[in-house]
Amino acid sequence: MQSFFYDRASDSAQALRLGQQPGAMYLAGGTNLLDLAKGGVVHPMRVVDLTRIGLDKIVETQGGGVRIGAMARNSDAANHPLIRQRYPLLAQALLSGASAQLRNMATMGGNLMQRTRCPYFTDTAFDMCNKRMPGTGCGARQGYNRTHAILGASEACIAVNPSDMNVALAALDAVITVSSPRGERTIPIGQFHRLPGDTPQVDTVLLPGEMITAIDLPASGFSRHAHYLKVRDRASYAFALVSVGAALDLDNGVVRAARIALGGVAHKPWRMPAAEALLAGHPLSDERSRQAAQLLTAGAAGFKDNRFKIELARRAIVRALNQAGASA
Ligand code: SF4
Repeated sequence: MQSFFYDRASDSAQALRLGQQPGAMYLAGGTNLLDLAKGGVVHPMRVVDLTRIGLDKIVETQGGGVRIGAMARNSDAANHPLIRQRYPLLAQALLSGASAQLRNMATMGGNLMQRTRCPYFTDTAFDMCNKRMPGTGCGARQGYNRTHAILGASEACIAVNPSDMNVALAALDAVITVSSPRGERTIPIGQFHRLPGDTPQVDTVLLPGEMITAIDLPASGFSRHAHYLKVRDRASYAFALVSVGAALDLDNGVVRAARIALGGVAHKPWRMPAAEALLAGHPLSDERSRQAAQLLTAGAAGFKDNRFKIELARRAIVRALNQAGASA
């Protein structure tokens, strides 16, 4: 690992000042950044440790929403009464990720910034990866691509976003607040992560030096009927082949509103309001759920090893909606 300067910030203002230095990277829980730095995948010149700046509270906001500080630990968020009662989808998604030990370290802001687990990206023995070394090609396109994207991929990159949490946040219309010396701005979760296009090395719309400070969840009617379904190769400590965050607002069995977000299939959580609108105004049924699944996965295309994901995603959507409808 290349050497770097280390700074432990004592408050947000100091963190932001330090974060403007050339080559600076913010360190939150460290569960992803340290692995990548030790593996030579990323090369920070300066690491700004955020663990003493606070920003870890989870509080109710005006209008019935909840604000989660960026430095709140994944396990604390998953077990917080406000999250469990109002956003069970997020609690389920968080608890399906990683291991208990990792969830105790990983933060909400850090989880938003998780990098892909494409092996050609994380293993520097491979010399073709546009995300790690722009312009070198994509090893996964012709190589082993069982876990890769079926939606939104580009010639340059077919990697997927690995986070469970991000799928739930997408379904729940979370809004991310970020700070910089220029001030604060908010970014809807659907615009936070990027599709790879010609610049797969850029995962998010964050500008250099910007720091995530909070995640806001709006009040919603999705507190009773929600289900996070994660399909993976083993029962724990594995990334999703396909995951579905499904939430329903039901009125006497009739769908008032629905949310469906797909994970493990694209460079960002995959949502399509038109697919959700198909369910609204009707009793939940397999037929309608299948139509929604078909629409949400329209345009899906597989590669040599991952074509199975297309049908898997469609079936997972139907099952997740059923489970959401049955939950209370
Ligand atoms: Fe790199 Fe993306 Fe190709 Fe994986 S899929 S090898 S991350 S460019």
